[in-house]
Amino acid sequence: METLQEIKSSVYRFGNKSADGNSKMKNLLGGKGANLAEMSLLGIPVPPGFTITTEVCTQYNELGRDKVVKMIKGEVQKSIKNLEKIMGTKFGDNDNPLLISVRSGARVSMPGMMDTVLNLGLNDDAVIGLIKKTKNERFAWDSYRRFIQMYGGVVLGMKPESKEDIDPFEEIMENLKEKRNIHLDTDFSIQDLQDLVYDFKDAVKKRTGHDFPTDPWDQLWGAVMAVFDSWNGDRAVYYRNMHGYPADWGTAVNVQAMVYGNMGEKSGTGVCFTRDAGTGENVFNGEYLIDAQGEDVVAGVRTPQQITKLGSVRWAELAKVKENNRKENYPSLEELMPSIYKELDEYQNKLENHYSDMQDMEFTIQEGKLWILQTRNGKRTGAAMVKIAMDLLKDGSINEKEAILRIEPNKLDELLHPIFDPKALKNANVIAQGLPASPGAATGQIVFFADEANKYKNTILTRIETSPEDLEGMNIAKGILTARGGMTSHAAVVARGMGKCCVSGAGALKINYKKRTLTVDGKEYHEGDWISLNGSKGNIIEGKVATIQPELSGEFAEIMELSNKYSSMKVRTNADSPKDAKVARQFGAQGIGLTRTEHMFFETSRIKAMREMILSETVKGRRYALDELLPMQRGDFEGIFEAMEGLPVTIRLLDPPLHEFVPHQLAAQKDLADEMHISLEAIKSKVSQLEEFNPMLGHRGCRLGNTYPEITEMQTRAIIEAALNLKEKGIEAKPEIMVPLIGTLKEYIEQENVIRATAKKVFEERNDTIEFLVGTMIEIPRAALTADLIAQRAEFFSFGTNDLTQMAFGYSRDDAGKFLPIYIEKGILTVDPFEVIDQEGVGQLIKMGTEKGRSTKRDLKVGICGEHGGEPSSIEFCYNTGMNYVSCSPFRVPIARLAAAQAEIKKA
Ligand code: PEP
Ligand code: MG
Repeated sequence: METLQEIKSSVYRFGNKSADGNSKMKNLLGGKGANLAEMSLLGIPVPPGFTITTEVCTQYNELGRDKVVKMIKGEVQKSIKNLEKIMGTKFGDNDNPLLISVRSGARVSMPGMMDTVLNLGLNDDAVIGLIKKTKNERFAWDSYRRFIQMYGGVVLGMKPESKEDIDPFEEIMENLKEKRNIHLDTDFSIQDLQDLVYDFKDAVKKRTGHDFPTDPWDQLWGAVMAVFDSWNGDRAVYYRNMHGYPADWGTAVNVQAMVYGNMGEKSGTGVCFTRDAGTGENVFNGEYLIDAQGEDVVAGVRTPQQITKLGSVRWAELAKVKENNRKENYPSLEELMPSIYKELDEYQNKLENHYSDMQDMEFTIQEGKLWILQTRNGKRTGAAMVKIAMDLLKDGSINEKEAILRIEPNKLDELLHPIFDPKALKNANVIAQGLPASPGAATGQIVFFADEANKYKNTILTRIETSPEDLEGMNIAKGILTARGGMTSHAAVVARGMGKCCVSGAGALKINYKKRTLTVDGKEYHEGDWISLNGSKGNIIEGKVATIQPELSGEFAEIMELSNKYSSMKVRTNADSPKDAKVARQFGAQGIGLTRTEHMFFETSRIKAMREMILSETVKGRRYALDELLPMQRGDFEGIFEAMEGLPVTIRLLDPPLHEFVPHQLAAQKDLADEMHISLEAIKSKVSQLEEFNPMLGHRGCRLGNTYPEITEMQTRAIIEAALNLKEKGIEAKPEIMVPLIGTLKEYIEQENVIRATAKKVFEERNDTIEFLVGTMIEIPRAALTADLIAQRAEFFSFGTNDLTQMAFGYSRDDAGKFLPIYIEKGILTVDPFEVIDQEGVGQLIKMGTEKGRSTKRDLKVGICGEHGGEPSSIEFCYNTGMNYVSCSPFRVPIARLAAAQAEIKKA
């Protein structure tokens, strides 16, 4: 038997300016539940209710429905009684029914990913009671038909059967509209609404084989369990995986007294944001609909009106609506209901100040009374995230450290995406105008269905409106375009959360799913046709538009400067060419952590000499080819040193899997034979000699330099000569020569000897010197285990976590793609260890390697240059391990700078 304590802690009440919980209890109550409790404590009018905790969801997944109902039944009954007392109504009563909503709410907001049921408690008798009580027959029947529709979809599985089909209930409604020759839901007569209720129930019976449940308690448990189930629904699972949220978080369930926005002209519902979620501009904004319930606004079926007058005027300009028409037909809430607007404005200020962050709120007006249904920190684009954090810092709401912590490092990626070239935009053919729902530039081929978003390389998902089922396709597409829906429609909210370009509510578009066409002003576009979207302006453009790289400026540059202020760990870049080095410098790289010298030979003009070198049978032949390579390498190094202007540059000696460089096709082999004046047979036999069963564990890294020391000689010479040449020009170069893939001290010493002897020789020839370091990569487990010995000679360590992960797990880097996705799906691994450092295992090797290395050389410089060096959680791990720097690809440098600062702030 459960203890009283366990039962008590399953359900938390709120409402009437009191609450059992508060906003700090998000893990237990979910974000929505915790914030409802907090708002209630702040005296903001929220419909009273209670939250069933996320722990119950987890228990439900383990124990199943019956045990969980038994466990929480008593407390839920008590909480319903409490609700009845506050509302003066009775759950299950036919004359004075209490109607409730049942909503999901995980600890982080997952907009539209889980399920909601409204108007629960209605049946054929209660609807009569509701009519008597409200004297509003139309409202009562409308609420009833909505309830059956929602409950049917969420709890009873009444979903469209194929992707071309519409919702089965919508279909019934569309048919009736056609029969009556009407267009809007609000045009239905009371009799129509009654007919819909019975037709809906018939449809349920026909499809499920059961009658629609009439007992409110059965309805309630059905809805609560359906919300729990929706935590494991496809949409939620996809969203969780996308963001790395673990399955055991679970969702809470919020049960609340219903308030109604569909009670006529004095009622309405809306969504608002305390700042602009697309751009971050500090303007209160949002949308509402008169005589409607919440889902009408987000579903994008009716085009909503703006909350503020400023927003309304801006909207009218984009929608080409004249001022008179706007005032009369689309007035803002500010104009239409000034006192409600004033109250709402007061709450939005209060809530933003209270949470010190941009809030996304939902509200309902029931016959002139305002209710706030939820508040949460609003989802926003990367650009808005940066601007809002900096604005809040400037107005003193948060401090510098908080501003840094407010930004999700990976969201910065959006600010680094290409934007349309202003010159190309001048000549662009704008075919239609929609709302600028999520900024950015997108060019792609039209697709009409989310599950076809990967049909072409770049796609624009073009829909009448999107629904949560479309999430995966939205994530794949380059941009999202909808014909219906406002700035708070599903498409707009989700796109902003993903930082994906979106234009919504472009009313001029006529989309035909069956024919797969998009028609604008009589011109037809087909699946596969190219279009472009300007998400910042809402323009839809025919064809492709050229893009350019954005600059790191404004608030973005400011947050980067702040990051540097709070981080002692440096961020370097992995760059193989002067061009990459320059880009990385612009993004603030503080040196180069890895130049993969083999990448310098992939170009066709160079690969020949490289092949000649590899295929040579003799030292003489190799030296001959190396002499050709020397000036090319030297030139590249000069360019890189110049771009880095005195910052340290780590250059790794050759580490190619040799087979990648030799020609496998007959024609190329013939060419090479001619070039080298040897027989085709000789080439063929050398190529087959080089074949390895396990190239990743084969003749690569220092094994190459140790078998062909002349390669190390040539590379050292190129590095040292390049640095000396720059010195002559007055530019400082700081090379750090890195030996790859060592497992034993002796392997390292052999290479170091060659490097130092060659450098000495060049210094003598030139009668000049420069300073340089010689160090090694730690990427073989044995090197980590013997790091104290290796540090006797190595002047720095750089962890090559790509190979270290490969060898620690025994997963081939080249082949793991075949099974890793299945491992992740099955939960055998939670993440791909090649993306996120496996702190538990590989992490031990890194810690041990660092500690052992520093036990020999206290100030040993330690960094990381595997792919993990640009991944935020791995960067935090590197900081906590005491690394001097992380190194990552140029476009991840800003992300790494921010993540490094966050790691340091969090640890302090
Ligand atoms: C590594 O192994 O982590 C590394 C940086 O080297 P590469 O990826 O070139 O093997
Ligand atoms: Mg490696």
